[in-house]
Amino acid sequence: MTNHHYDVIISNKSLFYTFSHLLTGSFVHPPTDTQHALTACPDCDLLVSVIEAPTGHAVLCPRCSSTLRKKTEGSIAKTLALSGTGLILYPPAISLPLMTFQSLGFSDSANILESVLNFYRNDYYFVSFMVLLSAVVFPLVLLSGIFFISLQLYRRRSSPALARIFRLYEHFEEWAMVEVYLLGILITVIKMSDSSDITFRSGVICFTLLVLITLAISTVIDRELFWQMIGGSGREMRADLPDHPNRDDDTERSAADRGLILCDICHLLVPEDLAGQDCPRCGERLHRRKPESFSRTWALIITSAIFFAPANLLPIMRVDFMGVPDRSTIMDGIIYFFQHGSYLIGLIIFAASILVPLFKIAGLAILLSTRAPCNLRLLQQKTRMYRLIAFIGRWSMLDIFVISLLTVLVDFGFFTSIHTAPAATYFCIVVASTMFAAITFDPRIMWDTCTAGDTPAAVAAKPTSS
Ligand SMILES: [Zn+2]
Ligand SMILES: [Zn+2]
Repeated sequence: MTNHHYDVIISNKSLFYTFSHLLTGSFVHPPTDTQHALTACPDCDLLVSVIEAPTGHAVLCPRCSSTLRKKTEGSIAKTLALSGTGLILYPPAISLPLMTFQSLGFSDSANILESVLNFYRNDYYFVSFMVLLSAVVFPLVLLSGIFFISLQLYRRRSSPALARIFRLYEHFEEWAMVEVYLLGILITVIKMSDSSDITFRSGVICFTLLVLITLAISTVIDRELFWQMIGGSGREMRADLPDHPNRDDDTERSAADRGLILCDICHLLVPEDLAGQDCPRCGERLHRRKPESFSRTWALIITSAIFFAPANLLPIMRVDFMGVPDRSTIMDGIIYFFQHGSYLIGLIIFAASILVPLFKIAGLAILLSTRAPCNLRLLQQKTRMYRLIAFIGRWSMLDIFVISLLTVLVDFGFFTSIHTAPAATYFCIVVASTMFAAITFDPRIMWDTCTAGDTPAAVAAKPTSS
């Protein structure tokens, strides 16, 4: 029997932790505590003895560097205060004018609601639906949900509804894209600053604060603590597991090897005979692996690859100037920025609109089609790539948000006006299907080729002798 063990890794959670960790998996330190109970890694299914992270630190999986726990001091009170403030800011942020454009003696102002309605009025129903959900509906639903949950937990009240609401919060969190919309506002301003006078209005201040609050909530929320307060630690569900496992038997093995499954949403570890039933803590359907992950993900990336062509070849925007229409594709828009010296903005749109969807389609295809035998270093890189794919997907909506603002802001009748063109619908289909593909892909199927003896505790973990 091997005498190497995986120990959990505690990572210092600095401001840029999430992003840098996503790319490099760095900031790892050897463990400092030996108190442990079992949990499993959601990305590689490794059984690990988890310890309580010191406040302000995260516990990382020693095999794939996925974040297992993250602890914030006063998480519930902070989440309550932030979400309450967010709810106060939401109505003005969504309905007040963001800015006013003046050109050729005309002036137009735009707010977020109008930018959604404009797509709808012009028969772009799917685009309108995507922008409505991502910029208006989900931000409000998530803020209200997390406000209600943190208020109830703060008052130490529990009810079955809390688990349902928090499960929905975990499901829809990545579909709220206010920060992407904020970048869209910035790009709209830079794009139009040559040809019109721009005046910022109060809505833009409220919206910026709303974005900062949304980002702060995702940083301070301590998911494990919330789940434990809502539905208990689930200890009764794993009565057969020792608190202090025989580490040669339990660690270095996957949860599946040990007859256990991890809930996708609340990360409760339960016996595998509960597969197909609802999670006792959060109510999510339990599966050993995400159902039909392989075929569903393939179907979704093939869909996005098919729609990627019309999304890029057809015009996405039409500018009418003195009655003369001028249609432009995504690439034309990028070239425009380069010709006008805005290289950074050109690069941002190029990355968000072309590189990100391509990287997601190609990346997931590579992850699905390479089924090499267990190679720790390669699997770690593939898991990191998967996390990057899941993280960046939503930023592709950037160009759609820019167009949503431009069509409202530049509507000066016969003289000049901007309209949406057909590629917008295809582009939204690409964004939605690549995001769904990242959700249906189960990274643990890549690690299933590794069995207990195959995974040398070499790279990320600190080996300890027994
Ligand atoms: Zn892992
Ligand atoms: Zn659950």
